[in-house]
Amino acid sequence: MTHHAPPPPAAGCRETPVLKQRGQHEVFCGLTGIIWLHRKMQDAFFLVVGSRTCAHLLQSAAGVMIFAEPRFGTAILEETDLAGLADAQAELERDVDRLLARRTDIRQLFLVGSCPSEVIKLDLARAAEKLTARHAPKVRVLNYSGSGIETTFTEGEDACLASMVPALPETDKRQLLLVGALPDVVEDQALDLLGKMGIDDISVLPARHADSGLAVGPNTVFALTQPFLGGTLAALERRGARHLPAPFPFGEEGTTAWLQAVAREFGVDEARFDAVTGAPRARARKAVAKAATTLSGKSVFFFPDSQLEIPLARFLTRECGMEAVEVGAPYIHKSVVGPDLDLLSQGPTIAEGQDVELQLDRCRTARPDLTVCGLGLANPLEAEGLATKWAIELVFTPVHFYEQAGDLAALFSRPLHRRNALKLEAAE
Ligand code: SF4
Repeated sequence: MTHHAPPPPAAGCRETPVLKQRGQHEVFCGLTGIIWLHRKMQDAFFLVVGSRTCAHLLQSAAGVMIFAEPRFGTAILEETDLAGLADAQAELERDVDRLLARRTDIRQLFLVGSCPSEVIKLDLARAAEKLTARHAPKVRVLNYSGSGIETTFTEGEDACLASMVPALPETDKRQLLLVGALPDVVEDQALDLLGKMGIDDISVLPARHADSGLAVGPNTVFALTQPFLGGTLAALERRGARHLPAPFPFGEEGTTAWLQAVAREFGVDEARFDAVTGAPRARARKAVAKAATTLSGKSVFFFPDSQLEIPLARFLTRECGMEAVEVGAPYIHKSVVGPDLDLLSQGPTIAEGQDVELQLDRCRTARPDLTVCGLGLANPLEAEGLATKWAIELVFTPVHFYEQAGDLAALFSRPLHRRNALKLEAAE
């Protein structure tokens, strides 16, 4: 038997008062995004301008995932740089010149700011401008911040994509732009579905190669595939492009609603839409229903972490039968997650920002069946007997669109299975 999402609630959570939290954060910094961005942009290089700590974070986060010639590195700021005794700016430019002379495959180079580079106020924008002037047209040098002072782990992608937008060529072409770094196989599925609906003029930001012909202008409409891209949204609007608000393509319902928003914009008729989506929708429902047998009736609590929380709460409550106790997100942009809030039934506390001690207290009181949180909180909560899911896995695992809907649900049911197995063992 397959499960259909119920009709939309009469009143969703869009107007629910938001509990604002301003306290200590417990999340990774934006450098983390380099791990998935460097795999996506095949001729880009990410040069973190930071300390040994930053280099260490990147290496351990990337650890098992590097196969080819590395496409990221760290320009290490030494004690002398930090103390202002050396000309770090000139040194950085020399480092980049050396790197580009050695690595002729690089077409885009990102100078990525970190806490130390911000503290000593290195002007990476000026460095990027000078280096672009020196290495254009072959290489474009851009800069963004991935520092823990300014960004949480998914905001690194937002800052990166937003940095690319002002440099894109102008076009008047009527086109659809998909925005967000999805694994290639998932992106191909989305392009295939849209292509079958007759929508052909589609570009993707970030493009896989620098010479993909990506351009933007007043006849560009864009759909986000990730909810943490508020800065990129604003940058695209400044270029005259128009945002298509929609629920995010998680689960069968989210994917269908997201596709519908695009289909409506491009005049796809209902019969064609149904013909294209019918079979994958049925597959997605069936796959979700399998995991939902474990999830149904269970409670879930989200700590603010990835900005995926609201769309995921919508998916887990509507398609998997879970009950959301609290949905915390680092930021809530209603222009981005409004359509997901509309579908989320009233009930859960909606919280923005983080005050980790207060949230831990609420979580301990609620004792949810499943807690979605960062790595730093997962271990202590597990030790207290709570089942947890690491939010970061959600950005490292393909979870978007129909064919991944079952995997997405399974990511949440697995920790519950594990906990049951542990309980059984303990009982034996
Ligand atoms: S950017 Fe800041 S938070 Fe991130 S690894 Fe470097 S020092 Fe740590």
